[in-house]
Amino acid sequence: MCIFCKIAAGEFTTEFLYEDEFVLAFRDLEPQAPTHILIIPKNHFENVEALSKFEPLTVAALFRAATELAESEGLVGHRTVFNTGASAGQSVFHAHLHLLGGRPFAWPPG
Ligand code: AMP
Repeated sequence: MCIFCKIAAGEFTTEFLYEDEFVLAFRDLEPQAPTHILIIPKNHFENVEALSKFEPLTVAALFRAATELAESEGLVGHRTVFNTGASAGQSVFHAHLHLLGGRPFAWPPG
């Protein structure tokens, strides 16, 4: 079982900041901004490409969660990111949406 599947299964003391039928959210272990939350599908998909193919409605659920969390975190602006593939910086191969906020962000991203 992958690390995010274990978190979703409640194997750790991870605090869930948001949960619905399809997705759940928790804080990133190594935050890259004052707010850095990961929103994941409960079912295992390697990346957002696979998730989009097999559970497109869950992609919408991820963004709905991001919107609610941005509001509950009091974020004025925020950035949402999917890293897809190692070359794009993906290190955990269970699809996840990063929600980052609380500081300015540069463009283009690194
Ligand atoms: P990515 O590099 O896009 O695959 O993002 C994976 C993210 O998962 C990184 O920001 C890590 O800091 C984070 N991460 C890895 N393991 C854990 C964990 N056990 N709990 C919370 N965040 C984690």
